[in-house]
Amino acid sequence: MTMTLIMKFGGTSVGNAEAIRQAANLVIQGAPNGEAIVVIVSAMRGVTDALVQGALTAAQGDEQTYRGVVSDLRVRHTLVIAELLSESAQRTELLKTVEAYLDEFAAFCRSVHVLGEVTARAMDAISSLGERMNARIFAAFLQEQGTPARAVDATDLIVTDRRFQEAAPLMEATQQRVQAHLMPLIEAGETPVVTGFIGATEDGITTTLGRGGSDYSAAILGAALDAAEVWTWTDVDGVLTTDPRIVPGARIIPELSYSEIGELAYFGAKVLHPKTIRPVVERGIPLWVKNTFNPTCPGTRIVQQPTSTPGTVKAVTAIPGLSMVTVEGRGMMGVPGIAARTFAAVASQGANVLMISQASSEQSICFLIPTGDVSTVITALERELALELSRRDIDRVWSMDDVVIVSAVGAGMRGTPGVAARLFHALATTDINVIAIAQGSSECSISLVVSGDQATEAVRQIHSEVIFYEQA
Ligand code: ASP
Ligand code: MG
Repeated sequence: MTMTLIMKFGGTSVGNAEAIRQAANLVIQGAPNGEAIVVIVSAMRGVTDALVQGALTAAQGDEQTYRGVVSDLRVRHTLVIAELLSESAQRTELLKTVEAYLDEFAAFCRSVHVLGEVTARAMDAISSLGERMNARIFAAFLQEQGTPARAVDATDLIVTDRRFQEAAPLMEATQQRVQAHLMPLIEAGETPVVTGFIGATEDGITTTLGRGGSDYSAAILGAALDAAEVWTWTDVDGVLTTDPRIVPGARIIPELSYSEIGELAYFGAKVLHPKTIRPVVERGIPLWVKNTFNPTCPGTRIVQQPTSTPGTVKAVTAIPGLSMVTVEGRGMMGVPGIAARTFAAVASQGANVLMISQASSEQSICFLIPTGDVSTVITALERELALELSRRDIDRVWSMDDVVIVSAVGAGMRGTPGVAARLFHALATTDINVIAIAQGSSECSISLVVSGDQATEAVRQIHSEVIFYEQA
């Protein structure tokens, strides 16, 4: 079987003519060990948002917005095509194809408008169009540069379940399709340019893998092809030690394990979703995050097993916009079921809990949720715990707004004493008050709650003291 290397390009990396040229050059230069390259492309940056917006407004009775989207997308795609391709029959053909997809979009939006609703299934058909257009443009440009290439719709390759908008791949069926439809192209020396983000059910109905899903597409195809490596090209040099807007000295993390990526994604870093990379990491296929606009920078490598040095913290992240809700009272002690009822009430409001902490005295439980959910959650809690509140077993349910979770992430913390001490020391030296603390038993991260106005300083302190301390 021909060895392959997957190159996935995100929305910014294929967001305009210049970026597409750059990305195509990376493909043309070839893989380091001569593997055949399989390209996966996202829609141009912002296109999926525009398609979704068009459909949603049409459902609400607005006929103007989607028409505006059609003309914006027409201009944008036509200009890119004009910049990339010289006048030829191929270019005329491509312009017609884009026009046909935009017609399809308008037709979908008209139906949505008539029906007054957009189903998840319709939304998938609509939001798949950006990738379909861009794969064709990218393939045509490779062709024009003398690299035999062909656009492939992932609806022919990735077989999914029927969970529209958040579909999961059926790996065995996918593998068969990949062997049948993709391998022959690769073996004939053509470079496939596959649409990211989309798939189809067994019976051919278009699905999407969730927003940002082209990373998932890359991992699925990487696993199905047993690729040598998967490279995801983006617009940053790799996964960084923290947000460079907070700490200008943030550095690239050379290597991260699957569990560390899990903590980072959970705690708000803008990186790969752990679910999406599981297919490749589990098979031991190395995955890289690289920068299209700075291709000589090696980027971040993601592997299954942590290779961290004991005691190291690799990254610091912050999640703002949260509130801390506390349920407290002396009568809670030793009473089973309060925690279960508390979280059932929170869940009934659809609020996502980001962190939980309970003192061993059992006199309070606190948890963090997005601030926008606080008032409904408190109302639900007061209803659920009305009896305990009236008996004064629970004294009150209250919230503290504008708090931030700051987390230090690194598998090197596992089994190593002293990491937490250094962390708290770093904060104490600048008078930062820690409101609550949580550490998962995986020992892959420690999370602290601090008030919003101290969050930036907390991130800076931990970054300089802890990360620098270890790497120096
Ligand atoms: N275009 C899709 C989105 O914006 C998928 C992706 O970019 O990964 O969500
Ligand atoms: Mg993305």
